[in-house]
Amino acid sequence: MIDAKKYITTIIILLGIIMVGVSIINVFLLNLTHLFEVSVNIIVVLIVTAIIFSTIITYKVIIGTDINSKIMNINFKIVNFIFPMMIKIASLVGISKDEIRKVYVKLNNKYIHSQKYNLKNEDILILIPHCVQKSSCKLKVTTDIKNCKQCGLCNIGDLVRLKENKNVNIFVATGGTLARKMILENKPKAVIAVACERDLTTGVQDVSKIPVLGVFNKRPNGPCVDTCIDVEEVENAISFFTV
Ligand code: SF4
Repeated sequence: MIDAKKYITTIIILLGIIMVGVSIINVFLLNLTHLFEVSVNIIVVLIVTAIIFSTIITYKVIIGTDINSKIMNINFKIVNFIFPMMIKIASLVGISKDEIRKVYVKLNNKYIHSQKYNLKNEDILILIPHCVQKSSCKLKVTTDIKNCKQCGLCNIGDLVRLKENKNVNIFVATGGTLARKMILENKPKAVIAVACERDLTTGVQDVSKIPVLGVFNKRPNGPCVDTCIDVEEVENAISFFTV
């Protein structure tokens, strides 16, 4: 569940910081040329307008309103620009960074869903975090997911069946470096990445040339241990890319 209030609170603080910054800058600009002062203020007004526009679009996306894909693309570029500042502000004022990341991944997914792909199953690469494997299981599923004996103790077995039924490439990655290597080696036309908010955000930012649909993993035992996957969500993502 995405908390729009926390995202908007962070935006309001960001706008407040910009306003205070502009006021201070204006005091220093009094001694400079009028043209320079006007130019700086026009740039600031444009930035503030872009942030307000982006926040309205983002809010509409969060509440499920259909938005034109070009507008979503522009909005995503603005969000990419302000995202590092949003993360810093969120952590300074005690808002969970994951709340901001959830919004980021939602915007990314919504934009991808506004496009058409019509891919073959084998063009899709599915990346799964290692923490999905039962922590007590010693089988080397990171080398090859088919090493799983499908005992039913974790979702890896479900993914082996999914791989066999749908002929998609599925890899269990131990981290971002390995995930990037898998993408470079397999050259997929689309990626379905299952991970936590932090890893999905960095994954989407790292892989800008191909669409990456993010699926959040579930963490009933806390972060990074014995996590779960909603396999139906992954199947829906495959169907979306292949229809
Ligand atoms: S389903 Fe596969 S990976 Fe998971 S615990 Fe069983 S054998 Fe190990």
